[in-house]
Amino acid sequence: MVSYTCSVCKKDFVPSSLKLVESQKYPKCNECYYAKKAEVSLQSANRKAQTELMRLENRIEKLEKKNEMLETIIESMVNEKVNMHLGDTLLSFVKQETQLQLGKLQSQIIDVNNKVVKIMGFELPKGEE
Ligand SMILES: [Zn+2]
Repeated sequence: MVSYTCSVCKKDFVPSSLKLVESQKYPKCNECYYAKKAEVSLQSANRKAQTELMRLENRIEKLEKKNEMLETIIESMVNEKVNMHLGDTLLSFVKQETQLQLGKLQSQIIDVNNKVVKIMGFELPKGEE
């Protein structure tokens, strides 16, 4: 029987499969062989999980960016509507106010003119009319 020294635990062992031991660069006893195998598959599972996690993080980041963009778009749309409405309201308010002031001014002019007529007996020369 051929005996090998395990490269990991340094114990001598008789391999159950000669082929398996000869295919290994560093021979391992059964125990260490399966322990190593489990470790490797755990590592690869970890790596897969890491990759999956990164993909998910990327997706979340993209979604957050999209959401941010959408918020900005909605915000600017709402702002535009509000500004349009404010503009309309302000314009009609200014028009109304101007009209009102103009009316007051006109009646004041007529008042003054009437007083002048009463006191002086003549009308003030009218402006552009
Ligand atoms: Zn071993």
